[in-house]
Amino acid sequence: MDSQLKDSFGREITYLRLSVTDRCDLRCTYCMAENMTFLPRKDLLTLEELDSLCSSFIARGIRKIRLTGGEPLVRRDLMGFIERLSRHRESGALDEITLTTNGTQLKRFAGDLKAYGVERINISLDSRDPDTFLKLTRRAVLEDVLRGIEAAQEAGLKIKINTVALKGTNDAEIPELMTWAHGLGMDMTLIEVMPLGDIDEDRVDQYLPLTAVRDELEKRFTLIDTPMKTGGPARYVKVAETGGILGMITPLTNNFCAGCNRVRVTCTGQIYTCLGHGDKLDLREAIRGSNPDLELDKLLNLAMHQKPEKHHFDISERGARPAVTRHMSVTGG
Ligand code: SAM
Ligand code: SF4
Repeated sequence: MDSQLKDSFGREITYLRLSVTDRCDLRCTYCMAENMTFLPRKDLLTLEELDSLCSSFIARGIRKIRLTGGEPLVRRDLMGFIERLSRHRESGALDEITLTTNGTQLKRFAGDLKAYGVERINISLDSRDPDTFLKLTRRAVLEDVLRGIEAAQEAGLKIKINTVALKGTNDAEIPELMTWAHGLGMDMTLIEVMPLGDIDEDRVDQYLPLTAVRDELEKRFTLIDTPMKTGGPARYVKVAETGGILGMITPLTNNFCAGCNRVRVTCTGQIYTCLGHGDKLDLREAIRGSNPDLELDKLLNLAMHQKPEKHHFDISERGARPAVTRHMSVTGG
């Protein structure tokens, strides 16, 4: 058997996004409701189980692992987990371990991340204005995030800022945020809000197509299309005036599925082969069973068979149910 994970459309799956917790210390309005019911702790895979799962994925051709959440840095002993995982990087079996974080805990962990072989991280920041940040995240911790970014830079981590474009909230600030990020040598990626999970607001009020953001940016900046590809959904432009790179993730205005190379696994061991579909398979039963290697292989083969060709997001109808009931914090984006 060819061990490389490949789906029925011929796409090789080399990228695993692993959510290590669904909990978070923020409550971003587009991601969560203020009152969330999180998964019972007993349902979570232990760090040992997550480690063994990663080894199985690596044996099936996964070359890159991104840790996400919820907020990954709130999971206890995540540093010990990353330290152990780094053996696969040292052996050459894995190219990269990365992390997506909201940055609140980075001041504490940036040095360890770098020491355990993490070279690049994504930090989510939608506003540098204290009032807007508070309104968006419902927590007054902007200073912690900014200190975290400084710590990550001092530790030598390469940083990409992820910003969700939100109508009437941070749209006017996006040019300034980009200039700030580029000025500090950080790339930036803008993301269209996706209809995942019930939140307290209507997504029609949040959704801002990046085509509109690009039009606005082009009034002030020269955006040069680049052929840069990371195997992910982002399209990249170089901004002549800042010299920085701006990525745009446009699931709604521009479907990006043809080059999809990834799967997502949640902290309870559910594998989702598409962010925009509810279909999942339970790997936890397999890894806790009597023949974990065989059962896991079977399930991964089935997952490859089930991976859909593309997602079907749509945000046009006011009051519509989310395309997928699961929140982004379950799979980590
Ligand atoms: N807590 C970490 C963070 O915020 O970076 C990691 C998990 S978070 C779910 C991953 C990314 O998904 C963040 O950049 C966040 O802004 C984005 N996100 C969350 N909900 C989203 C939604 N409904 N549509 C688009 N992006 C979303
Ligand atoms: Fe937490 Fe990240 Fe979701 Fe914000 S986007 S609530 S930081 S998981």
